[in-house]
Amino acid sequence: MELQDRIRELCRAREAVILAHTYQPPEIQDIADYVGDSYGLSRRAADLKAPVIVFCGVHFMAETAAILNPGRTVLLPAADAGCPMADMITGEQLRRMKAEHPGAPVVCYVNTTAEVKAESTICCTSSNAVKVVQSLGPVPEVLFVPDRYLGRFVEIQLGRPLICWDGFCPTHAMLTKETIQRVRSEHPDAELMVHPECRPEVQDLADHVLSTGQMCDLVKASSCRKYLVGTEVGILHTLKKLAPDREFIHVTPFLRCPNMKKITLEKIVRSLETLEPRVTVEESVAAGARRAIEGMLAVTARGA
Ligand code: SF4
Repeated sequence: MELQDRIRELCRAREAVILAHTYQPPEIQDIADYVGDSYGLSRRAADLKAPVIVFCGVHFMAETAAILNPGRTVLLPAADAGCPMADMITGEQLRRMKAEHPGAPVVCYVNTTAEVKAESTICCTSSNAVKVVQSLGPVPEVLFVPDRYLGRFVEIQLGRPLICWDGFCPTHAMLTKETIQRVRSEHPDAELMVHPECRPEVQDLADHVLSTGQMCDLVKASSCRKYLVGTEVGILHTLKKLAPDREFIHVTPFLRCPNMKKITLEKIVRSLETLEPRVTVEESVAAGARRAIEGMLAVTARGA
């Protein structure tokens, strides 16, 4: 039996749904019930009724699904699929940062551990970070963790400074200004879209700075035929499925997150057979993290 057929059979038997991030390999995206960015996956996870969720992404994403669905079984088929950016700040480090800025609200990117979320005022994703910071009103100081490049993007959009943690995504940081200049000169007829996790000098050269979900929305709405894509390679599959008549050129093969590629069809089969490895979050931490995530979902639902 094909692995895909076995996965479908096990999903029916377990009443499981498969959620996959757009950075997952093509064969994983194709087997998933829902493919999306962090914001779309958080929203979908919050609405799910299925008893078993197979999360194809990295650890903090599966944690978010577990936080929003207490009592459900959340599986992460590769237990070691972490996110180096999420590991750049701990709960203790955030507590110290807060002590240095008493009363300042904390906006935390969802690419963080549950412990860091629980210490934060509200979460954000790359698609709603501007709205979330705006929703705090004219407070004198805002702490933004952990991605300094996303923080800088928000600063420019809102014309106000933030106090940013010094974290970054090692995958997106590999994209350099020189690479962008070269590919732009090779494809002068293409529009360049990059992710806000990219370096500022890279963002400055782009036509569009967008989350992966927003990249999909742009392609659906625009008549442009050719795009240079400056984010993790997995999204090329999503975009090509969405708009097979357009041309998508990945700006560099270095934009490949090794953690996002740890999940395989074989590991999904094993995970559904054994209901392991599970991701759980202690309720004492989950309650605070849930408040911060639900705050973000409420702001995004009503607009800021
Ligand atoms: S692409 Fe970057 S931010 Fe996303 S999971 Fe990989 S290391 Fe983390």
